Amino acid sequence: MLDFLNPVKGFAVTFRQMFRKVDTVEYPEVKKPTAPRYHGRHQLNRWPDGLEKCIGCELCAWACPADAIYVEGGSNTESERYSPGERYGAVYQINYLRCILCGLCVEACPTRALTMTNEYELANDSRESLIWTKEQLVAPLQPGMEAPPHPMRLGDSEEDYYRLGPSFAAAQPTDLLSMLARSRGADGAPDAPAAEPPAEGSEPRADAGGT
Ligand code: SF4
Ligand code: SF4
Repeated sequence: MLDFLNPVKGFAVTFRQMFRKVDTVEYPEVKKPTAPRYHGRHQLNRWPDGLEKCIGCELCAWACPADAIYVEGGSNTESERYSPGERYGAVYQINYLRCILCGLCVEACPTRALTMTNEYELANDSRESLIWTKEQLVAPLQPGMEAPPHPMRLGDSEEDYYRLGPSFAAAQPTDLLSMLARSRGADGAPDAPAAEPPAEGSEPRADAGGT
């Protein structure tokens, strides 16, 4: 019964759809915000004084399933320092022709130097321009930061960076020197115990801004 309607049932589906809300976004005129943890292009982060977090260890390159990362490490010297440790990333490239934005490189990074932003507009008609260099990937300098090379401004030891880094990052740039003086005490030695981490929610995301 009613089999004679079968040929026109499909039109009912089409007709119903005409009254539903349209999900189409008129990109590029309209840009819909991504999810907060969306995997966009990478960023090489800095410490609060502007030194780079990358230590040139190549772990990200080894973790990459697409062989999209190329790293050459260099050695810091007292007169030319780019990161707080012994080594820094002298050459850093990500090939976005290969990258599948999986985030495994971010997981492998031991210093949280490498994170991913929400930027997704990576298309280009030139193959060369899709190989991003360190200069393109490194986070911009924020207020209070100084372009490397320069000496370690947050203390004389790497411990100051790793132990107090989150506190420095949460502080206003103008407070950094006074925080450092307080943390090191009158004799110049670091106080014990370790500084309290910032309250939950006050610690900036490692992939946000320049830290
Ligand atoms: S996101 Fe994935 S594919 Fe892209 S560079 Fe990192 S590990 Fe490689
Ligand atoms: S980004 Fe991280 S994993 Fe990659 S070389 Fe730098 S410190 Fe090592």
